[in-house]
Amino acid sequence: MTVADLHRAYRDELLQAGLLISMGVDGLYGRSGLFERVVEGINTAVGKVGDPDRPEVMRFPPGIGKWQLEQSGYLNSSPQLVGTVHSFTGNDADHRAMLDTIAQGGDWTAGQRTTQIALAPAACYGVYPAVGARGRLPQQGALVDCYTWCFRHEPSIDPARMQMFRQREHVRLGSEEQALAFRETWKERGQAIIASLGLPFEVDVANDPFFGRTGRLLAASQREESLKFELLVPIHAKEHPTACVSFNYHRDLFGRAWKIETASGETAHTACVGFGVERITLALFKHHGFAVERWPASVRDVLGL
Ligand code: ZN
Repeated sequence: MTVADLHRAYRDELLQAGLLISMGVDGLYGRSGLFERVVEGINTAVGKVGDPDRPEVMRFPPGIGKWQLEQSGYLNSSPQLVGTVHSFTGNDADHRAMLDTIAQGGDWTAGQRTTQIALAPAACYGVYPAVGARGRLPQQGALVDCYTWCFRHEPSIDPARMQMFRQREHVRLGSEEQALAFRETWKERGQAIIASLGLPFEVDVANDPFFGRTGRLLAASQREESLKFELLVPIHAKEHPTACVSFNYHRDLFGRAWKIETASGETAHTACVGFGVERITLALFKHHGFAVERWPASVRDVLGL
């Protein structure tokens, strides 16, 4: 079986079992109640570890301001993944023309104009501008817990590569030492959480598919400076594990983009840890089966199931 066969086979199983609900688009699915209970269980498990740090909780909608996307620098590295929200802004005649186009099977979206909203590429993108707008950070920096629907335009039959998915993140803003210490702490915590779920994993330096020439340079520095680590779990095949948790250190990239300053007036450094809750859920169903009541008691206990 090729990797594509494995992807299709697992997706078909999930659809047949009703855990995922087809929406007729690769990478876009509804989720069943059971699927969501496991997702909530993962959130509970992450909360149990992270809540004692008393992070500030922020919840954002799946959209961010188009200006926020521009300022973040994401368009430099990954323009191919971006989604923008468009809307009809024409008059009566434009509307009639659009309906005619639809009736003829043509491209009715040609008259759509971009709105002020883009889709969030990662959960933490709402956090930096919000914290930056407050002025200088306090001495202890800032720590934020966020959880958001994200969009990445990469249609795939791999159920673990969804176009719309959720990330549960903790984000640290402060000095270089604070950001790096946070990432080290969560690298350990992330592994402990996944181990407690009875899943096999490895941690490796990430290799993001950045776009074009600029992207190749970014990818090289990401690897050389070990800016991003991923916790990989085999879902389909041992040789092709899936990144389920990422541990990111952004240096002062977002600090500069959003003019975030430490208490002493230096550009803030930031780091984040992101849990791909759907991917972890899919890994759990793959390794422990579709009957949650037969999962190991210790795993159900961690998830509160
Ligand atoms: Zn993040």
